[in-house]
Amino acid sequence: MNLNKFFILIAAAAVTSFTGCKGSSSADTSAQRSFSRDLFAMDTYMSVRSYGGDESALDSAENCIRDLENKLSATISGSDVSRINSGGGKPVEVSDDTAAIIRKAVETGSLTGGALDVTAYPLVREWGFTTGSYKIPSQERIDSLLASVDYRKIVLNGNTVTLPDGMLLDLGALAKGYTGDKVIETLRENGADAAIISLGGNVQAFGEKPDGSAWKVAVRDPFTPDNDMCTIEIGEKAVITSGNYERCFTGDDGKVYWHIIDPADGFPADNGIVSATIIGDEGLTCDALSTAMFVEGLEGACELWKNDRSYDMILVTDDSRIFYTEGIADSFTNLTSMPAEVIPVD
Ligand code: FAD
Ligand code: MG
Repeated sequence: MNLNKFFILIAAAAVTSFTGCKGSSSADTSAQRSFSRDLFAMDTYMSVRSYGGDESALDSAENCIRDLENKLSATISGSDVSRINSGGGKPVEVSDDTAAIIRKAVETGSLTGGALDVTAYPLVREWGFTTGSYKIPSQERIDSLLASVDYRKIVLNGNTVTLPDGMLLDLGALAKGYTGDKVIETLRENGADAAIISLGGNVQAFGEKPDGSAWKVAVRDPFTPDNDMCTIEIGEKAVITSGNYERCFTGDDGKVYWHIIDPADGFPADNGIVSATIIGDEGLTCDALSTAMFVEGLEGACELWKNDRSYDMILVTDDSRIFYTEGIADSFTNLTSMPAEVIPVD
């Protein structure tokens, strides 16, 4: 159970007026009826609030989340990911969902020069980030595990995945973003007019809030994660953050180690970024990029953004500076004393 995620969820709830317990509904007129549900899945707390339609849309959304967890979890035996990991180098047939996420993972790996590498799983496990039994591995052990990290060796042919024997993958860096996209799609198809969801702090919205105002989303302060750092206002967007305050521990050497690994050296990524938030149309892309930007560091992340600019981002550096892109400048409210500046386009 990840308590940090719970705090993020509460923060998102406070700012987006996004509260409720399982199966609750509030009704004044049918156009304004809202329904909310909290659940625990994918080792994190999730919350879904929909407007319009009826509560069956939430049942469908929850089924969608459970179904995706059963396909995508590296720890559920029989899931697509488990079957790939135990495939011994043989081709494995997977669902459309798993294939779509792996396709994006390989694409983003290539776009970011391997900053996102879903085959870093053996290292994530070795550091104890999957179990909570944290340890600093020996350099020898890191070197030997690094030899089996290389997303370019994943072969995806249609829905058939082949991973060399001895390699392992985990889609945790981008699967919740994909899940958000699918939850929104499911809510739409099942009659909701609008919704705001938080999947372990990944916030995503569709439709208009009944009062006509924009959805307001808070981003945590990575230095004091119980506090919000800023708010932004969004339309139908995903807001997805990777931070160094999640799944972290202090080693015997007094240093803090966190769960996002730099595939270049096998250590927690320490390239100057402590929080990377991506704001865009598609949860899958935002989630993949949030992890990759964290690994890239400020310069690399800004370079990547300048070459695309179809999304916005907020980066926080380890020397307490905030950098954000011009697309969110009008709605960005800094709640801290950290200096915040707009990233120049060139
Ligand atoms: P993100 O930045 O989006 O992702 C970071 C995560 O990606 C890390 O925790 C690590 O798993 C992985 N990673 C680290 N470095 C890299 C890199 N350079 N490239 C690619 N990936 C990297 N957690 C559990 O402890 N137990 C569970 O049973 C469990 N089940 C899950 C099932 C599903 C379907 C999903 C999607 C997640 C599950 N998780 C589980 C959580 C998961 O392991 C991650 O901790 C979580 O997805 C991290 O999300 P984030 O938004 O905090 O960070
Ligand atoms: Mg991510």
